[in-house]
Amino acid sequence: MSSTGSSLRVRMAPSPTGYLHVGSVRTALFNWLLARHHGGTFILRVEDTDRSRMVPGAVENMMDTLRWVGLDWDEGPEKGGPFGPYVQSERLDKYHQHAEQLLAEGKAYRCYCTEERLAELRRQQEASRQPTGYDRRCRYLSEEEKRALEASSQPSVVRFASPLEGTTTFTDLVRGPVTYQNAGVGDFVCIKSDGYPTYHFAVVVDDHLMEISHVTRGEEFISSAARDRLLYEAFGWSPPLYAHYPLILAPDRARLAKRHGATAAVEFREMGIVREAFFNYLALLGASYSADREIYSVEELIQLFDIPRVSPSAAIFDRAKLEWMNGYYINHILSLPDVTDRCMPYLRDDGLVADETPREYVEQVVALVKERLKLLSEVGELTEFFFREPDLSLDVLAVKKLSAEETRDVLSRAQERLQALPGWEEAEMEVAMRSLAEELGLKAGPLFMALRVAVTGRTVSPGLFETMRVLGRERTLERLARAAELLAGSPA
Ligand code: GLU
Repeated sequence: MSSTGSSLRVRMAPSPTGYLHVGSVRTALFNWLLARHHGGTFILRVEDTDRSRMVPGAVENMMDTLRWVGLDWDEGPEKGGPFGPYVQSERLDKYHQHAEQLLAEGKAYRCYCTEERLAELRRQQEASRQPTGYDRRCRYLSEEEKRALEASSQPSVVRFASPLEGTTTFTDLVRGPVTYQNAGVGDFVCIKSDGYPTYHFAVVVDDHLMEISHVTRGEEFISSAARDRLLYEAFGWSPPLYAHYPLILAPDRARLAKRHGATAAVEFREMGIVREAFFNYLALLGASYSADREIYSVEELIQLFDIPRVSPSAAIFDRAKLEWMNGYYINHILSLPDVTDRCMPYLRDDGLVADETPREYVEQVVALVKERLKLLSEVGELTEFFFREPDLSLDVLAVKKLSAEETRDVLSRAQERLQALPGWEEAEMEVAMRSLAEELGLKAGPLFMALRVAVTGRTVSPGLFETMRVLGRERTLERLARAAELLAGSPA
């Protein structure tokens, strides 16, 4: 029994070779939901046995990403647990001990073939169009040859003596029955010459020792399942259940890669995808819960998620949909103070907000753009003129249907009227500006546009009067005066 009650135990087993890819986060998220749904245990295990691909800091970075998404682990690094250590490089004795067992039982053998021989073998196989793979030479060494090689200091690896015939069949909980020809599996390496286990060997030893009930991982690992199963059989262990989650493809149906844009979870975080939207979006990537709903809380997803919800066909990563969902969370689900807090680092980075900027002002500004904000990183671009004087030029101030002189006239009159207002509320500003338009025989449109470009330096902004209210009387009037002045200097 696990610490959390159910016997379901699933693991997320990333290799610390770089930043966590969205696909790995999706796997982690499905596993976490599965564990939470069944009251089981979610384990984090670091698979760091490929020393040549290790990236310093990657483990911390991965854990940070999982925490950011909200995927807490019940056992694993930092947390501990009854089956530790949870970092494979700290478990070498266990792999050696199990490899020795297979060697003693004749189910594995030491292979002394050099890199050069293996390369030459491969070259020959390719030249004669034969399937490539180890030719099992060391599997059939005589006792005498073995003794001689053992006595020499020649480096060796431990290879699995894979069955030469028969098939391996298992039922994948997502993909249905899967069958492999054993002869195609080959005598794969279990322990490398550097003493570290290969992924295939370590994964089986650990999944067994950690009592993993379901091996749930991305479809790219489905071909590993044949090796896994043969090892379980060789050890006489009962294998776990398997579920391979569908691949994540780009809209062009190629594997999601750098050239399609961001792929690492940290990149999405940096661009201002909020964790709640990322979670919701990934939970839908390859699984469905109902035909007509896309927004789900974490609690609802825990209730709903289970392996039968997972589709066997590939999922398409749709960046526009992720951004739409992010906008939805920003606009409808997160509170204004919360969105403001999350916008702060971006506004600071853009040099728009400093320690002395009143928080209340920032919140009022964010309130005006929340509705249009799809990525937090875009907040500076949308709100710059609230924090900095806009760059006004005659080009910027050119309003359709009005000459420069008319615009100047409109702006100075507007300035006078606004100045005379007793308060600074949207409704009274609007009434005053509409009656001014009427007096001047103008449509409201061009007049409002003249005000908008003078106040914001742009033709698109949040609501004009809301913007003026938040900017305040003094700043608004100053900008109107400045624009009128600039236009006064222009040729009529
Ligand atoms: N270490 C593998 C990875 O990097 C894990 C595969 C598995 O879950 O078995 O994703």
